[in-house]
Amino acid sequence: MSEIMLEIDNVSKIYPGRRSLFGRSQPVTALNGVSLSVNKGESYGLVGESGSGKTTLTRSILHLETPTGGAIRFQGKDLQQLSAPELRRLRARIQIVFQDPYASLNPRMSVHDIVTEPMVIHHGIMGLSHSQRTERAVELLCLVGLAPQHLHRFPHEFSGGQRQRICIARALASGPDLLLLDEPTSALDVSVQAQVLNLLCDLQDRLGLTYFFISHDLAVVRYICDRVALIYRGDIVEQGDCQCIFDTPQTDYAKMLIGAMPEVSV
Ligand code: ADP
Ligand code: MG
Repeated sequence: MSEIMLEIDNVSKIYPGRRSLFGRSQPVTALNGVSLSVNKGESYGLVGESGSGKTTLTRSILHLETPTGGAIRFQGKDLQQLSAPELRRLRARIQIVFQDPYASLNPRMSVHDIVTEPMVIHHGIMGLSHSQRTERAVELLCLVGLAPQHLHRFPHEFSGGQRQRICIARALASGPDLLLLDEPTSALDVSVQAQVLNLLCDLQDRLGLTYFFISHDLAVVRYICDRVALIYRGDIVEQGDCQCIFDTPQTDYAKMLIGAMPEVSV
C-alpha cells in the first residue's frame, strides 16, 4: 500500500457573491465536494479548463484559502487543525511553481537573494548560516541546470526557460516533499517546455519528490503524470490511472478533452 502524501477529502469552496453597483451577484461554487489523494513519490495531474476550480484547490492546499467544507490532510494531518508552529513547518514542506516565470521573480532581487529567501524565511527550521545558504544556492542552481556564475545576476538577464529553472531552484530551497506545479510550462516556447518537463522528471527521480501538476494541456499531463483527475466546474468528473483514462475515457467530458488533443508524434 502506498503512503498518502496529500488527501483532499470532500472539499468545497463557495465564494460569496461580489458586491457591485447593481447589488450582490450570485455566490460561486468553485469546488463542489472534491476528493482525491496523492501518493508519496507520484505525479498527480489535475486537468480542467479555465474557471474549473484548479487555482482555488491549489490555494486551499497552500492554506491561502479556507474551504467551506471538507478537509485537506498533508502527511495525515488536517491543515485546519495545525498549530502556528506546525503550519510554519508545513510551509517549508509544500512549495509551488507558478505558470509565469516573468511575473513570479522580483526583478530587483539577484538570483542569490531569490534562491536563498526561503532559507531565510525558514531559518528557524533550517538554521543555515549566510555562507551555508550561498553554498546551498549554488548546489540548487547546478541541480536545475544553471551555473554558479548565475548567482549574482538578475532575472532580466535570463530567458523564460532559465527563469523557470530559477523558480524551481527557489521552490526546492526549503527541501519540500510536495511541489504544486501550476501550469509550469504553459508560458514557455514549445522547445523549452520539453526541457523543463525533462528537468522536472529528473528532479523527481533524484529527490523523490511528489508532484501535484495542474494543467489544461493533456499532452503534458500524459507525459509527466502517473494518475490524473479531470475537473469540470468544481466537480471531479473522472480520475484514475493516466494511461487508462487516455485509452478508455468514460465520461463525455474526458472524451471531449482527449478528442481535442493534438496528435503527439512519437
Ligand atoms: P481555474 O484556476 O481552474 O481557472 P479558479 O479556481 O480560478 O479556476 O476559479 C473557479 C471559479 O471560482 C471561477 O468561476 C472563478 O470566477 C471563481 N472565483 C475564483 N476566485 C474567486 C474569488 N476570490 N471570488 C469570487 N469568485 C472567485
Ligand atoms: Mg487558475
